[in-house]
Amino acid sequence: MRDLAGQVKDAALNLIFPPVCPVCGKPAPARAYLHPECERKLVPVSGERCAVCGKQLPDGRESLCLDCRRRRHEFIQTISVFQYTEAARQCIYRFKYKNKREYAAPLGYLMWKYAGRRIRFYRPEVIIPVPMYAAKKRRRGYNQSELLAQSLARVSGIPCAPEALIRTRATRPMKELTAGERAANLSGAFLADGPLPWKRVLLLDDIYTSGSTLDACAAALKKGGAREVYGICLCTGEGF
Ligand SMILES: [Zn+2]
Ligand SMILES: [Zn+2]
Repeated sequence: MRDLAGQVKDAALNLIFPPVCPVCGKPAPARAYLHPECERKLVPVSGERCAVCGKQLPDGRESLCLDCRRRRHEFIQTISVFQYTEAARQCIYRFKYKNKREYAAPLGYLMWKYAGRRIRFYRPEVIIPVPMYAAKKRRRGYNQSELLAQSLARVSGIPCAPEALIRTRATRPMKELTAGERAANLSGAFLADGPLPWKRVLLLDDIYTSGSTLDACAAALKKGGAREVYGICLCTGEGF
């Protein structure tokens, strides 16, 4: 049961950020995070998935995707909740770039609804978001992955530690780089505030592309003392 202070805080937050449906952007229906018809536009990743990176596999004959057969990841397993459809793309775009911080609550709820079972299976002691470089966060005003991690922490009851991992320098957007440039771009870019008190960590990012960012973060967390790093992403891209 939430205490009175928590309820008052939620009511105040609802006045500042009235609940909106993250898919259509209109006011959310009463006592729900989004419209049922809007939720249906978000397509969960389903069927056969790569056992490591969670990407949907074209056929079920292999358990790993081509990429994961070629290289080892630093995380044990990552799953993404939704496919990167047009509805998901627009939703994430507004959440990231259009100051729609209020999307964090419905999106965190959806992550838990669709991936809660898997997250419980990982038994993470903490959720850590992929950090943003401090200067970039100041410019944008927030780190969307951090908001999402805090939201997931609220619905799941798993603590969140956004300060445990830092991005030590600015990096170039991964989508602009070739595979070779990606590794150099991220080399030494993350540092864990170790020694970390957790053994099992759930790392959170908004979109899974090549896994390079999660790998760099997971390596830093393991350097800081974490033993097992799992990943959760809101969406997975295809063809990366
Ligand atoms: Zn809607
Ligand atoms: Zn894979």
